[in-house]
Amino acid sequence: MAQTMRTHDAGTLRAADVGSEVTLAGWVGRRRDHGGVIFVDLRDASGIVQVVLNPDDAPASEQELNSLRMEFCISVSGTVRLRPGDMANPDLPTGEVEVVAAEMAVLSPSETLPFQIDDRTEVDEAKRLQYRYLDLRRPSMTANLRARSRTIRAMRDVMDDLGFMEIETPTLIASTPEGARDMLVPSRLREGSFYALPQSPQLFKQLLMIGGVERYYQIARCYRDEDLRADRQLEFTQLDFEGSFWGQEDVLSTLEEVSIRVTKELRGIDLDRPFPRLTWHQAMERYGTDKPDIRFGMEIHDLSGVFAETGFNAFSGVLASGGSIRGINAGPLGLSRSGLDGLSSRAQELGAKGLVWMVTEEDGGLRSPVAKFLSDREMEGLVGTLGAVPGDILLLVADETRTVLEILGLIRLEVGQSEGHDELAYLFVVDFPVFERNEDGDFVALHHPFTAPVDVREMSENPGHAISKAYDLVLNGSELGSGSVRIHDPEVQAKVFETLGISDEDAERRFGWFLEALRYGTPPHAGFAVGVDRLVAILQNAPNIREVIPFPKTQSGADPLTGSPARVEDEQLRELGIEVRPEVRAEWAAGESAGG
Ligand code: ASP
Repeated sequence: MAQTMRTHDAGTLRAADVGSEVTLAGWVGRRRDHGGVIFVDLRDASGIVQVVLNPDDAPASEQELNSLRMEFCISVSGTVRLRPGDMANPDLPTGEVEVVAAEMAVLSPSETLPFQIDDRTEVDEAKRLQYRYLDLRRPSMTANLRARSRTIRAMRDVMDDLGFMEIETPTLIASTPEGARDMLVPSRLREGSFYALPQSPQLFKQLLMIGGVERYYQIARCYRDEDLRADRQLEFTQLDFEGSFWGQEDVLSTLEEVSIRVTKELRGIDLDRPFPRLTWHQAMERYGTDKPDIRFGMEIHDLSGVFAETGFNAFSGVLASGGSIRGINAGPLGLSRSGLDGLSSRAQELGAKGLVWMVTEEDGGLRSPVAKFLSDREMEGLVGTLGAVPGDILLLVADETRTVLEILGLIRLEVGQSEGHDELAYLFVVDFPVFERNEDGDFVALHHPFTAPVDVREMSENPGHAISKAYDLVLNGSELGSGSVRIHDPEVQAKVFETLGISDEDAERRFGWFLEALRYGTPPHAGFAVGVDRLVAILQNAPNIREVIPFPKTQSGADPLTGSPARVEDEQLRELGIEVRPEVRAEWAAGESAGG
């Protein structure tokens, strides 16, 4: 691209440029003084090159040269030359060359920095977020932003190639039931009324299908007022898409296209298709989770049959009360006795009554604190079912089946992840249940209430067991996104609301407009939403999604840079018809007098 302030990008200079006259601009990354000559790492968005400022060449006034500090923004004109013999730096793409400055100008000085800007220095995250604009200058952050941009571009390219139309949907909408708490925005024009920010563009994309669009996509910002975690933010980005005259297979093959293109773009890897698939039931039984990390085996096996006639009270008691005994073969973990006992305590922390460990010995026997309670036949059954060879560690949990699966699923991740896998394991999980029960025992939609059941009659008769046409995309044990075939029949939609305990009047009041839309020749349709933040984070090996979001919030939902969320002027509240409770004002006052 033509530039007026510089001739080259710093990070692009190579031995082939030796002899060229260049003008560069960027930041002073590092400054070293050697016998009166100043060496500066000049950094711009493309990378770093070494610049030599020799006072004898008078590239700037002596005072200016002496004042030069880290992160000053400067421009340099000079000549590219080879670094003298042993001075080349093989770790730097520009490491063979340096630029000898004939002129240097300070474009903008910098105050003393709150922290060192490089990838070696560990900085407290709150500080990094407070000075995000400096944090973004770090090469790893520049790389993450670039990866994010390339991901989104690759997504747009695929969707465009597949004939999708990019359409924006509103962000000030009516509240819709999608499982999370809504973010609300008070209306000034209609006091006491609120918009919700979209948890996803769900109903609008369905309306687009009714509107005859047939292939829609959007890089959509979504909002959910939930507690924040490593892979969750209050606002996040999805590749949202929907297609008409579509079923599950159309969605899954589109997802394969997207994943293949993005993975190729960021990792240079060609993925095989079709991606492996598990039903929700298989995932739960074999991995104890609906988002299995299948980079390693260590599957869960039901051992209840092995212990059907056991004399070991702890096990027989669990079986008698309808629970189960399951286990994993964790392989040769190389754990000492105290390490193994540590796993038992960990399982208790996670909510199990306990975890039994066994070490397979050379003679095929088992060493374990509970070995004396087990018959030879049970030991043989265990070794056989878990395919154990000498040295393998077997981990067993006996409890209510749900707890057993959950705990073994978590323990499996803890002992399996330490093996340090680097490959990418994409997986589809299909056939999710339609409903699950919440803490009060009421049915709630497992995906969302617009998801089609496989069999409507079964759903009415036995909602607890009904299977839906919902599916997830999982990568390395993270849920990358969800989707479903939608209900296009208003009668079925009404039945789902009914099972969810939403009365006809309530449904009419809240979604009457949507139920009405379904009555005008709605095409069968299906769709999905891919979490862009999570995908980029995993492909970039980032420890959490905040690393790939330019301006994220902290775990407590705050932005230390701009101070949001913040109080607003009383006048603004008055216009919105909102009053702040006196107790809250008293807390504000107390905070202020305490200097908070
Ligand atoms: N709205 C999404 C869908 O397409 C799901 C989601 O946002 O999680 O089903």
